[in-house]
Amino acid sequence: MARLPRNIASVFVIGGALALSACGDTSPVDDATSAVDAGVVNIYTARHYASDYAVYDAFTTATGIEVNYIEAGGDLLIERVRQEAERSPADIVITVDAGRLWRADQAGLFQAAPELADTLQGIPANLRHPDGAWFGFSTRVRGIAYAPDRVDPADISDFADLADPMWEGRICVRSSGNVYNQSQLAALINTAGVEAAEAWAAGIVSNLARAPQGGDTDQIRAVAAGECDVAIVNHYYVGRLKNSDDPANRDVGDAVDFIMPPVAGAGAHINVSGAGLAANAPNRENAIAFLEFLLSPDGQRFFPELTNEYPAVEGVTYDNAVIAGFGEIMADPVNVTALGENAAEAQRIFDRVGWP
Ligand code: FE
Repeated sequence: MARLPRNIASVFVIGGALALSACGDTSPVDDATSAVDAGVVNIYTARHYASDYAVYDAFTTATGIEVNYIEAGGDLLIERVRQEAERSPADIVITVDAGRLWRADQAGLFQAAPELADTLQGIPANLRHPDGAWFGFSTRVRGIAYAPDRVDPADISDFADLADPMWEGRICVRSSGNVYNQSQLAALINTAGVEAAEAWAAGIVSNLARAPQGGDTDQIRAVAAGECDVAIVNHYYVGRLKNSDDPANRDVGDAVDFIMPPVAGAGAHINVSGAGLAANAPNRENAIAFLEFLLSPDGQRFFPELTNEYPAVEGVTYDNAVIAGFGEIMADPVNVTALGENAAEAQRIFDRVGWP
């Protein structure tokens, strides 16, 4: 694997705004043209995880096709490909969270890939775009990390329970500007409607132990430190700490237990990292080959084994006792596209209830 040539990657990664206004002369097209002859696939990705590098390497080993990739934050990535339009060298776009995949689709970043129709049958229908424009390749569950000495998990049979006054001053969660919270509230809107979603969000705000700060790992650390009793977090942050090679991190992970309660009775809130064939993919055949590999058992197992995510393809076996030990996932069957559709409404609710 290789990063895209320096002139592209550095312009993009270092200065988004500059790159967007100046990219007309950085000639990504020239690189893409030479790329066609060289047997490569160009991946634009919002992810930067060990699992992904392992997939790139294993794919190149299996096929001889070289992987060029550039990385950028989700919204910047979308804007970049949108601005490049038909000159974009992107063959594949990968991003995190269904809300962002929805926005990428709205921006016209993807094209249908009928070649993948059979392969996509292995992914639950609710984890992919109804027309196959993109699909989830790994999943994450938003759940609750809690201090077992201070919390009886029987008190949380549903996320709705956290709005009860018994949790006053006991909850840690990150800010509402984060897409994970937006997508979770979007799922609640889908299941229970705007009014119920607003009442729940208001209940969480009145039960916060502290003003939202930091990422999901910081919420888990706060539970371990006794600052709060429960934290709303994605499962892989708990898995990462519990599986850490660093004893100090492992201590934090082992200080909490993790549950995946339903959201308003609908099932646990599942989200995806997803990929799609880019609208102009200059190396279409190689891109399809990569996406097939990504969904093969050999590609899928990197996600649980290296990043503590769950594989999106059903029936894939993997070695990660910690995340397997979180138990069976009773997932909300909503199609994840609904999360993007409800995201703006979710943000308005957060603003109304004063969730910072
Ligand atoms: Fe994350």
